[in-house]
Amino acid sequence: MKKIYTVLLLLAGFLFFSAVQIQAANYKALIVTGQSNHYWEGSFPILKELLVQTNLFTVDVAKTPAKGGDMSAFQPDFKKYNVVVVDYNGESWSAKTKAAFLDFVKNGGGVVIYHEADNSFADWKEYNEIIGLGGWNNRSAKDGPYVYYKRNKLVVDSVSTGPTGSHGPQHEYVVRTRIIDHPIMKGLPTSWIHGKDELYGTLRGPAKNMEILATAFSDTAKRGAGRDEPMLMTLQYGKGRIFHTALGHVGKDATHPATECVGFIVTFQRGAEWAASGKVTQAIPLDFPNIDGSVLRPDYKETTLTLSEDLEKISTYAIDKSTRYFVNLQAKIRKVSANPAALLDIEKKMVKVLQDKDATVEGKKLILRELAWMGSNYCVPAVQELLKNEDLKENASFTLERMKGPRKIVL
Ligand code: ZN
Repeated sequence: MKKIYTVLLLLAGFLFFSAVQIQAANYKALIVTGQSNHYWEGSFPILKELLVQTNLFTVDVAKTPAKGGDMSAFQPDFKKYNVVVVDYNGESWSAKTKAAFLDFVKNGGGVVIYHEADNSFADWKEYNEIIGLGGWNNRSAKDGPYVYYKRNKLVVDSVSTGPTGSHGPQHEYVVRTRIIDHPIMKGLPTSWIHGKDELYGTLRGPAKNMEILATAFSDTAKRGAGRDEPMLMTLQYGKGRIFHTALGHVGKDATHPATECVGFIVTFQRGAEWAASGKVTQAIPLDFPNIDGSVLRPDYKETTLTLSEDLEKISTYAIDKSTRYFVNLQAKIRKVSANPAALLDIEKKMVKVLQDKDATVEGKKLILRELAWMGSNYCVPAVQELLKNEDLKENASFTLERMKGPRKIVL
């Protein structure tokens, strides 16, 4: 009898272990970097962290020699990996390494082309087919048409001349989905505001077997061409799947809002999974931005705090502290914005902060700002009470003013 129990226990253990194994898909990713006109020493650790935190990838990094070094020494074993992330804009690889990379992609390897990687290898014909569209490094009309959207129509322009690759000053901009049912985009808001970034435009290339998943409008006021430029793309090269993101500039600045943007993070993570496997299993996080504003994760991690914990932090907020918890609160409000009962639950908890004698003035100001657009008549008495408070009366009256009009009263 004892023996049977032992066998059963072993079997149960084995099944449990197998289930865990199945659950945690283990794709192997390789980030290729080592030379760039960008701050590659800063970007590759970010990309690595983002891949690791999905729990889907183990990540290796292959660095080329520095500029002028012996490039024949750079021979990553691409075929060991499910996906290769290119964070590189530098000297040509050896013929042997280029051939190995092409073999890898043709035979079904996944590729992620990240930001400045579409500047790279202007003279490498097959690489340009892999990226679809590229810019700079003497690319021109000979390298393929401009491809973009104008007035909601796809334009493939082989005739016009002009710059190949351009961007104006960094700024926040709207990213708009063009293929809503693609696995990478499915379930995301169709428009969202991206953190401050370069907006790549006037790219050209062969654009074969390419789908444009999302675009961004390159405003002429920001030295753009006044059209919707491709930002997220997928391509097929042989059996290989390619995800190309033009987003995510990393320079030597103190902060990197382009890669801290939840929109960049999530599309990069989903794009990498899709390139590795052809599917996307990741859930869409609570803090994904929409058209109301960009959402940054200064530490690259998704929030795990509850609403009460966020409000507790907000109630101690001072000007020099992180507004992270306020961003979390806004995300939670957005998530239920079509559900009046859930919205009222949040509002009740926000009113408690307004009534809390120990909560900071700055914390209460954040709450008032949010109530101005989402509050119902439930919060009105508490907001009116603050009109008596010298430090808060202006904010309270602004909130009450904004709440007038056609607002739907919940109670
Ligand atoms: Zn850049």
